[in-house]
Amino acid sequence: EQVLAAEKTYTIATDVTFPPFVYANADNKYVGIDMDLIKAVAKEEGFKVEIKPIGFNAAIQAVQAGQVDGMIAGMTITNERKKTFDFSTPYYSSGIVMAVKPGSGVTKLTDLKGKKVAIKTGTSGADYANSIKKKYGFKTVTFDDSDNMYDDVKTGNAAACFEDSAVLEYGVKTGLGLKIVTKPTNTGDYGFAVKKGANQELLAKFNHGLAALKKNGTYDKIIAKYTGKKA
Ligand code: GLN
Repeated sequence: EQVLAAEKTYTIATDVTFPPFVYANADNKYVGIDMDLIKAVAKEEGFKVEIKPIGFNAAIQAVQAGQVDGMIAGMTITNERKKTFDFSTPYYSSGIVMAVKPGSGVTKLTDLKGKKVAIKTGTSGADYANSIKKKYGFKTVTFDDSDNMYDDVKTGNAAACFEDSAVLEYGVKTGLGLKIVTKPTNTGDYGFAVKKGANQELLAKFNHGLAALKKNGTYDKIIAKYTGKKA
């Protein structure tokens, strides 16, 4: 397909390891639902994207600082974030679950008393853990990306982590080596985000493109490709 010189390029920040939404494949290319989606939207709407895989919290900061035009990173639409971001129409939904090392004996929230729990900076999973840590008597240890958070649980330093169910369910299926022990809670929608009041043209293009992809079957294909599930 011919790319027109007039096509605008938007810089889009994303996470580094958040499969099936964004992750580096064996060829060190960033793939996943979010990557396919933003690229398909760009194609549909006639713009180009430059992906910046910088980590979730770094992406939040970069959008707020105006260093990038938007972000797509399995980001949950929350009322708190709506104060500083404008979100697209939702494209996926996920809750938050607790995961442990299989065989560790930790199977429920009350088992966390006096233990350390791994969380990822700036995420809704971290917010959730912080909201219950007093009640269940655990301490938190923070990480910038999901991989390092999982490793802390796998090595036994942390007793558990809190992470999006959509990501951990995929992880369990693909041999991550963690076990989900709670039902999903605080379910929310994922959205593409721009800084509040900025890049409204990009946001409108995303919404318009997403609607078209939902209509023409591309959206369903992308979801099925990475999850094996119907959207
Ligand atoms: N959905 C979670 C959030 O928005 C986690 C996102 C992520 O870690 N990439 O906070």
